[in-house]
Amino acid sequence: MSVLHPRLQTMQALLAGSPLTRVIDPDISAKGLELWIKRDDLLHPVISGNKWRKLKYILNHALHVGADTIVSMGGAYSNHLHALAFAGKALGIKTVGYIRGERPAQLNPTLADLQEWGMELRFVSRGDYRTLRAYKTHDSLPGLQPGQYWLPEGGACGLALQGVAEIVAEIDIDYDVLAVACGTGTTAAGLIASSPKSGRVLGVAALKGGAFLYDDIQRVLIEQSAANAADWQIVSDYHCGGFANTTPALLDFIATFQSLQGIALEPIYTGKLLFAIYDLIKQDYFPAETRIVAVHTGGLQGNRSATATNSA
Ligand SMILES: *Cc1c(COP(=O)(O)O)cnc(C)c1O
Repeated sequence: MSVLHPRLQTMQALLAGSPLTRVIDPDISAKGLELWIKRDDLLHPVISGNKWRKLKYILNHALHVGADTIVSMGGAYSNHLHALAFAGKALGIKTVGYIRGERPAQLNPTLADLQEWGMELRFVSRGDYRTLRAYKTHDSLPGLQPGQYWLPEGGACGLALQGVAEIVAEIDIDYDVLAVACGTGTTAAGLIASSPKSGRVLGVAALKGGAFLYDDIQRVLIEQSAANAADWQIVSDYHCGGFANTTPALLDFIATFQSLQGIALEPIYTGKLLFAIYDLIKQDYFPAETRIVAVHTGGLQGNRSATATNSA
């Protein structure tokens, strides 16, 4: 099943590499630390970052079982649906997206792309959206037609971890800490399951009340029998007011980081990740000589909706 379907091989050939680059910053060197960034944002202008990693073996499975349609769910600014719609078009698979909330009078840039790429948009109430969350396996959604493949919210399933493991396999330096932003925690779980024991995984929660991530990640690790996994920890106090909320300090940080390092961040995930790392460095959270690798999970398409209040 891990053999890549020919159509997926063709698609993978369109992707660029994800280099590992070092952040040069005198304040970081002064503490005796190293910070590196795994640039998954550079993989592809649309299907960047962890969304490609998570989708890769799910799409492969769907192609191998002969699915002609993938049905999934997300918010109105969803990076997941955005990557899925694009991949579906490239692979010749139909896509259907359940979108939380009412159809807006004017589609935002994310929704406009979904429509342009042929995704069928079905707007559902918040209550119905919550109900959809209960269906966790590819054949579990009631009313699925033959050939239709259900993909749970955020691409959360075991196959997603297989793609995430490739991030770790590509990192060719030793590291002490592997840091990543968390939404559902699926990407963090994949990193934990595949990281060498010497490397600790640090997850930065993008949502308020990120303590749920401990249970969710633990459950995935047990399901995947990843008992030998690396140590890990979640920091929950850098959500900046909640999912898709920002603060002036966060926005300032993102602008400064971008101008000094030439690396763009978005305020929902990767901005909070680097903001957290810089703040933890300032507070001497990391002992001297710690080498940190932060995963840039992409998501920059969301920047077109800077006033977004409804992302997922
Ligand atoms: C979706 C997303 C995440 C969160 O991934 P999870 O696997 O849901 O934790 C992090 N960063 C970006 C840019 C994303 O789009």
